[in-house]
Amino acid sequence: MTAARIDLRSDTVTRPTPAMLEAMFRAPVGDDVYEEDPTVRALEDAAAARFGLEAGLFCPSGTMTNQIAIKAHTEPLSEVICEQTSHIYLWEVGGIAFHSGASVALLPGKRGRVTAAQVEAAIRPVNVHYPTTSLISLENTHNRGGGSCYTLEEIAAIAEVARRHQIPLHLDGARIFNALVATGQQAEEYGRYFDSISVCLSKGLGAPVGSVLLGSRAFVQKCKRIRKVMGGGMRQAGYLAAAGLYALENNVARLADDHRRARQLAEALTAQPYVAEVLPVETNLVIFRLHDAHPADQFLAQLQERGIIASSFGPQMIRFVTHLDVDDAMIASVVRALNELAA
Ligand SMILES: *Cc1c(COP(=O)(O)O)cnc(C)c1O
Repeated sequence: MTAARIDLRSDTVTRPTPAMLEAMFRAPVGDDVYEEDPTVRALEDAAAARFGLEAGLFCPSGTMTNQIAIKAHTEPLSEVICEQTSHIYLWEVGGIAFHSGASVALLPGKRGRVTAAQVEAAIRPVNVHYPTTSLISLENTHNRGGGSCYTLEEIAAIAEVARRHQIPLHLDGARIFNALVATGQQAEEYGRYFDSISVCLSKGLGAPVGSVLLGSRAFVQKCKRIRKVMGGGMRQAGYLAAAGLYALENNVARLADDHRRARQLAEALTAQPYVAEVLPVETNLVIFRLHDAHPADQFLAQLQERGIIASSFGPQMIRFVTHLDVDDAMIASVVRALNELAA
């Protein structure tokens, strides 16, 4: 088997470029637990400013930023409303129960997106038998939904429900910049609607490590203590934050290239006789289903023989992800391989 040359498993697999490494190498640092790291502070402030929010908190992962936010917003005997295939529920090891002792109200979404009416219907009436609804969480773009994006109208309607019921609204924005680039929405709009936002730097933005949690100054102050108890207080983290700052400054607009390449993959897949369905491609995720006669394992093995690796995403489902380390020539090779498999 040849070594994989083209890695479509995830946008987390990117390596820092020489320019990013240079920015990391040059970063001024200090002990961030003592709040003395200027580069961490610069990243937190820059990310918060983009979204029109007061403060940011640099964390090792998006799982940690989400779980800290959930812990800060909720208490035991309360409930989080989220979509049934959301990352916070499906892929964070049951952390909502483990860290926060909270329950979940799971909504069936359309490609991961829920409506204001669904959210409102899931809010618990006050009753001794029920948990108290303490948080509404949305995911944009939605991973399991194939990188789908909310419209601002949909978000505004959900935010109106949240405000009317005085329930905080959290955004798992692991790929929020993909959504912004794909839709032309402004980051500040999100700061207006959401009480907290988690942004991943290590997905499409191409940093090696890290996520930022954004919110009000008081919220972030509370979250800082939760980060510490989870063991996420880092010392000279400015070396890592420098990569995030570099990514925010240099790697956002280019996400449009990833989206264009994802559409090219989707077009090629749609033409293949062994592909039953391709989810509409809005950003950098391409999720598709193989016909029953084509086992997913075999398909992945055939790709691997051609130096291409991808992820299985459920029975007969495959996910391709485009990112910084996938260029046009690689897309052409993948399309050639897909055509060969049909022959
Ligand atoms: C990747 C991802 C996260 C965070 O993942 P980490 O690997 O912990 O950084 C959170 N939400 C979504 C939707 C994701 O895709």
